[in-house]
Amino acid sequence: MSNGCCSQEPTSKRLEGKVAVITGGASGIGACTAKLFVKHGAKVVIADVQDDLGLSLSREIGSEDVITYVHCDVSSDSDVKNIVDTAVSKYGKLDIMFSNAGVSGGLDPRIIATDNEDFKKVFEINVFGGFLAAKHAASVMIPEKKGCILFTSSNSAAIAFPGPHAYVVSKHALNGLTKNLSAELGQHGIRVNCVSPFGIATPLMATAFGMKDADPELAKKTIEGLLGTAANLKEATLGTEDIAMAALYLASDEAKYVSGLNLVVDGGYSVTNPTISGAIQSLFA
Ligand code: NAD
Repeated sequence: MSNGCCSQEPTSKRLEGKVAVITGGASGIGACTAKLFVKHGAKVVIADVQDDLGLSLSREIGSEDVITYVHCDVSSDSDVKNIVDTAVSKYGKLDIMFSNAGVSGGLDPRIIATDNEDFKKVFEINVFGGFLAAKHAASVMIPEKKGCILFTSSNSAAIAFPGPHAYVVSKHALNGLTKNLSAELGQHGIRVNCVSPFGIATPLMATAFGMKDADPELAKKTIEGLLGTAANLKEATLGTEDIAMAALYLASDEAKYVSGLNLVVDGGYSVTNPTISGAIQSLFA
């Protein structure tokens, strides 16, 4: 799986003195972002349902002075309130809420084959979970008159995409939540943005490709091969570290006037039509 995260020591610490919560922080994009944020001077609360993974990751990253793992199901109001309370009681405040947890749900893209309960479950985690993260974060950020709320959306919501309706529509909802929250919370000095990745070989993607239990290296190679064929930008492979870097920028003061943005990190995939592009390019090859 994608694990090229953050191997270099930064020359300057871009999140010095900030406190962040990262949901879905035990794996994939969230885990890589937790490492990068701590490297850049942030104190981080990782929230996830994978307790063993979250605990071992937090121990690997650093001591409890800088990072804490807390069990949290993002679809539970009390769990989400608890992670915000933990950040405030342990580290004194909350500057950054990175609402990143997500599930793919069932993979059949046909509406008539979409399971009703699965659709609701995906919305409960991807959308209601994002709403709860923003709500509890805002309740402590509004009095401080500052803060940053960030969601992980998806490039599947930047274009029509023959993916599962629950997942794709849940990410469209997050894009809407980003804009609506940025309109409401700007008056309180709170910025709200989202980042939309193209495909990355994480456990979520392995599940989506039916390779959840396959050898991780084989799964990574297979997924990256398929995504590479579909990608617009060749000669590069998107990794979790690229999304962590986008999140770092949006969470830092370098983005102090950026709000309401959907930062699509997809190598230009969503601004072209790969089929027609390929057909035209083949005429001149
Ligand atoms: P991942 O499976 O590695 O990480 C997702 C994490 O969310 C896991 O640790 C999981 O335990 C956690 N999670 C799931 N349900 C939860 C719940 N109810 N409460 C708390 N945590 C929960 O996958 P990832 O690719 O790193 O996914 C992170 C985000 O990126 C997701 O929102 C996903 O939709 C989005 N995304 C991923 C890709 C991709 O290709 N990997 C592309 C676009 C968007």
